Amino acid sequence: MANLLFPRGCAGCDKPDDVLCDACLASFDCELSQPLETAEMGRWFACGWYRGAARQSILAWKDHGDEECDRPFSDALCRLAERAGVIDAMDGVREICDTILVVPAPSSIASMRQRGRRHMMPLAKRLSAFLRCRTGFRVQVCDALTNKGIKGKSVETKGTEQRAQRLKGHVMVRPGVTLQNKAVILVDDIVTSGATMRRCVDALTSQGALVITVLALAHTPAGRPLAA
Ligand SMILES: [Zn+2]
Repeated sequence: MANLLFPRGCAGCDKPDDVLCDACLASFDCELSQPLETAEMGRWFACGWYRGAARQSILAWKDHGDEECDRPFSDALCRLAERAGVIDAMDGVREICDTILVVPAPSSIASMRQRGRRHMMPLAKRLSAFLRCRTGFRVQVCDALTNKGIKGKSVETKGTEQRAQRLKGHVMVRPGVTLQNKAVILVDDIVTSGATMRRCVDALTSQGALVITVLALAHTPAGRPLAA
């Protein structure tokens, strides 16, 4: 009924009556890939570039509460997993891992409060269900990582290396999470330089997890954030 009175527009281009129209959906079917030596597959993958309609719809979803995008974005991650060969890679770790965990990249506590939800969680759940269904393996969502955010001496810190070092200490595995004999697929929304993603992977492997790969919705061209 609400839709009859207030028809929504496409989150990417405002075309009426679609959560995400076919043309905008196509911007999530690019299958980008970059090296990630610390992952079992040796690469990480993204559905598309963070620009144009993809960027517009991710902003609507992430920062303006367009939760109806959960579904098309989850579906895009599932298609990416299939095309990138994640299902074959899962088969390869079957002998050494008892469970495969889908781990959402952590949001800072501040941004989580601002948004009122963990926006990656519904995507992680749907991807996990898809992979479980496709492989018959034990696949679960595990909120294994936490990001304490930037505190204290941030103003005094200068330089990229120092900044990276400071942030590194803040991505960590939650106390009580056991990662021995677990394989992990990390999922994230936007990957820029990949530095945060690498810290997440390092945190997981340091606790005994075997990271298969990372799947992201979008990758920023040239590894730089785009101005609004
Ligand atoms: Zn559209």
